[in-house]
Amino acid sequence: MTGQARIIDGKAAAAALRAEIATEVAALTTSGRPAPGLHVVLVGEDPASRVYVGSKEKQAVEVGMASVVHRMPAETGEAELLAKVAAFNADPAVDGILVQLPLPKHIDVDKVIEAIDPAKDVDCFHPVNVGRLAAGQGKLIPCTPLGAMLLLKQVLPSLAGLEAVVIGRSGIVGRPMAQLLVQADCTVTIAHSRTRDLPEVLRRADIVVAAVGRPHFVKGAWIKPGATVIDVGINRLPDGKLAGDVDYAEALTVAGAITPVPGGVGPMTIACLLRNTLTAYRERRG
Ligand code: NDP
Repeated sequence: MTGQARIIDGKAAAAALRAEIATEVAALTTSGRPAPGLHVVLVGEDPASRVYVGSKEKQAVEVGMASVVHRMPAETGEAELLAKVAAFNADPAVDGILVQLPLPKHIDVDKVIEAIDPAKDVDCFHPVNVGRLAAGQGKLIPCTPLGAMLLLKQVLPSLAGLEAVVIGRSGIVGRPMAQLLVQADCTVTIAHSRTRDLPEVLRRADIVVAAVGRPHFVKGAWIKPGATVIDVGINRLPDGKLAGDVDYAEALTVAGAITPVPGGVGPMTIACLLRNTLTAYRERRG
């Protein structure tokens, strides 16, 4: 099949999801119930993290949530951060806690993630939530894989029986993505840096999810004609532009549908964070 793939509009999908969440939040508040509270902690001045945190706060407020960003200096000690997390855990008005990563090197990231109450862990990084997801019992779903699944379902309402290849096995994208695809009845292969002959592995893939972190890594010739391609990669090129992990120009002529970068999976991630915050609210407060 040659031609032009359908372009999956992540920006529009994210806007629709946010509108849905805003309606649900408005229904809560007009009935006299408190708005869901999302608390984001930013330690230090990492420029990319500042941008992400700013977007999270803005979008949370736009859907009517009570969102607070706690900015702490880079030299904040681990004990001080853990005390902050403990205070959020104990505060009934806090529904979602997100500690923006990366953290400064002197802080043990695992310790901080494990300190978050799993019921408020809207990033879904806590081992309890990772385990629940693996067991197929996850209520909170990691934001980027959840966003990727929602985009996939726009193109493929039923995923049952399809062959999916996830390239990348990170804890935040590749692994949870593969679990969600298995739960959706796909036949799933996880590829990584030790995979032999990736083009051969991709040959049968009806669905390709690229989460590698290398610009233009997946070539058009590796993609099965008509396949659905979800490009999770966000790579900054020397000229300052963003590029995905897939060679978009090549893939566009082979794939059946593809997510662009930017404007694909990226915008869905924050919308899914808001979805998780509302889920956490309902699970805890009914
Ligand atoms: P990681 O660096 O944690 O993982 C990358 C994965 O790619 C690893 O599993 C690695 O294998 C695999 N890999 C590396 N080289 C190859 C290769 N030559 N062949 C096959 N596999 C390879 O990255 P993340 O999962 O955190 O992120 C992946 C991408 O997604 C990045 O571009 C990131 O910016 C983007 N991202 C986008 C988000 C969004 O909101 N849209 C959110 C999070 C990430 P191995 O395990 O063997 O090292």
